[in-house]
Amino acid sequence: MIAEKDDFLHQLADSTYALVFPEYDDLGNEGIIVTDEGAVVIDTDVRTVDRIFAALPQITDKPIRYVINTHHAFDHSSANCFFADRGATIIGSESCREAMISHGEHNFKRWSDRLPYIQKILEEKKPRIVPPTITFNSELTLHLGGTIIELFHYGHAHSPGDAFIYLPKEQILFGGDLLWGGFFPNVREANVVNQLRVIDRILEFPAKYYVPGHGVITSDRNDIVNTRNFLGSLYEMIATMIREGKSIGDVRAAGEPLAAVHPEWRGRNFLSTAIDVIYASLAPRKA
Ligand SMILES: [Zn+2]
Repeated sequence: MIAEKDDFLHQLADSTYALVFPEYDDLGNEGIIVTDEGAVVIDTDVRTVDRIFAALPQITDKPIRYVINTHHAFDHSSANCFFADRGATIIGSESCREAMISHGEHNFKRWSDRLPYIQKILEEKKPRIVPPTITFNSELTLHLGGTIIELFHYGHAHSPGDAFIYLPKEQILFGGDLLWGGFFPNVREANVVNQLRVIDRILEFPAKYYVPGHGVITSDRNDIVNTRNFLGSLYEMIATMIREGKSIGDVRAAGEPLAAVHPEWRGRNFLSTAIDVIYASLAPRKA
């Protein structure tokens, strides 16, 4: 059973909290790891930063030492500057840093154009892009006052710079948007084949809790397997249909009804996106 300290603060271990904000589908889950040498925050968002700063004194009197970005997306990094201004150092994969530098401003604009309430927040808070300044290529381990925090990047999967985070003592895994809990996975920017491979590597870690980038935290490995297999089956189905010369119309007609397999999942529109993304990645290029 997950103990609740605040409406969004879920204590998973003595020192580890997952932050879940269910009010919007597109708000990511975040994390706080408290160590004797400062706090480590996983992912930042302009919509949640004030609530986190207000809640932090409840759980630690130490400063925020590091922010880890699971990837460059707006809903996982848009408040980095406010943490950096408080002295935190931002950590992410090298590809995450590159993607944030090349796409960060565009992402601010894309979210602000799409959602008026985001535009208002951006006008009020005036965040700036602060990319990771400590980067890594495949693996990095932080040793902070007895707490071990392992970071892994295994190539472009959900996004160019995905990192997942594992706490070996606590057996807690923060998956970023490699993992979706009770959601159709959003693979808009994904290399789906590699995302499946990386999820398989995630499944090799013993975990008491999996914290997905969006949706429900789970202790049940089968929840992760089910979402992985849904994406894997969709990929195989589309690959087969393309070999049979089927059109995108045929593929959509076969793929859309799969929503009924998981009527309880959120993000129904992400299924449509996944069908189109997988089709585009496999379809023979027209000369
Ligand atoms: Zn996300």
